[in-house]
Amino acid sequence: MSYLEEEKTFNKIIDDLMVLLKNEDSYNQVLSSMCSPPPKIAREIAKIFAAINLGDPGLFPETVKLENEVLAHLADLLHAPSSWTGAITSGGSESNLVGCWAARNWSKENRGIEKGKIIFPESAHVSFEKAADLLNLESEWIPLNDNFQVDIEAVKEAIDYRTVGIVGIAGATGTGVCDDINALSDLALEKNLYLHVDAAHGGTIYPYLKKLGHDVPKYGFENPGVKSVTIDTHKILGSLIPGGSIIFRSEEITKTIIKSITYLSDSSTKQLTITGTRPGTSVIATWVLLKNLGESYILERVKESFEVTKYLTQRLKEIDKIEIAFEPSLNIIGFTCSQMTNEDLVKELLKKGWHLSIYSNWTRIVVMSHVTKEVIDKFINDLEIVLNKEM
Ligand code: PLP
Repeated sequence: MSYLEEEKTFNKIIDDLMVLLKNEDSYNQVLSSMCSPPPKIAREIAKIFAAINLGDPGLFPETVKLENEVLAHLADLLHAPSSWTGAITSGGSESNLVGCWAARNWSKENRGIEKGKIIFPESAHVSFEKAADLLNLESEWIPLNDNFQVDIEAVKEAIDYRTVGIVGIAGATGTGVCDDINALSDLALEKNLYLHVDAAHGGTIYPYLKKLGHDVPKYGFENPGVKSVTIDTHKILGSLIPGGSIIFRSEEITKTIIKSITYLSDSSTKQLTITGTRPGTSVIATWVLLKNLGESYILERVKESFEVTKYLTQRLKEIDKIEIAFEPSLNIIGFTCSQMTNEDLVKELLKKGWHLSIYSNWTRIVVMSHVTKEVIDKFINDLEIVLNKEM
């Protein structure tokens, strides 16, 4: 094929894909996602550095340095002690699996538990259901109190001699609520249990909310019983997909799960992740967002999403047939409609192009960076049309 023909074919493929996928890249009417389109600089990084594979670190030593700096930054956000260790993962699900894996093996080594049980809040992400299944752990799901936090008394009652660990959530998928991590930490210390915190969503919001003057829960390693924390970079930070991490209090905790990989270019490579081959692009983009664009970029994103969350809550409260399911503490809103089921409402709104999700008994909206006030105005307008049509 001549250069010109090749160029033509290239352009045709890209043009066709642009047409085919045009609605899938903009997030124009997406109100259900915990991800946002990445900023221009991250997209550029995705294009240029697509060949970098952090699964083979010996080949990419400079990217490994960036990875270590990203991990150190995240550990710092979580108030990790200097003994911390961790890994960049493909996101919250993998990090939660690794956290549960560490809990199981740590408990086997330290407490001799062979066939253990792990305790989850009912608000925990489905990744924990997968983790328990994969790790052959029995799971016990604890109900929430009126504030949608895990009921601490019920956790206490559930703990028995086979319990390997407890999970707390800092920014639950359905409500944005943070469990009482401090109380869970006290319990973990008292009973010598592993405590993993899923801060996939909240972990990159709370530190910046605090800087903006809000009261935020203590959800990280400032609670001495916390052994590991999940924190994602492809959520509010807006970095490339896939991007998450797990940070551990110390290497002592990871020694039962870390694996040596001898066949790679650096034969001393060790992995804490489930995945082997991992994209460098996500790490490079995160590094740029954290280090180059820095605090003002993140503060702006967090501030905006909070202002829009407040605005949306207010607009929803003004509609008679709509009831708010809880006062949002993060950028997640739940509501119900007196006139139709959540399923019908979501279906009707989808006909107008809006993507919402249902969580538990409510319709759920996540206010990410692409959900601006203008988007909310258009959405409320369509919501009112749907409700008036149904009268
Ligand atoms: N943990 C929480 C609290 C989440 O909300 C999510 C996803 O929404 C996950 C974990 C899973 O993250 P991922 O989709 O990155 O695997």
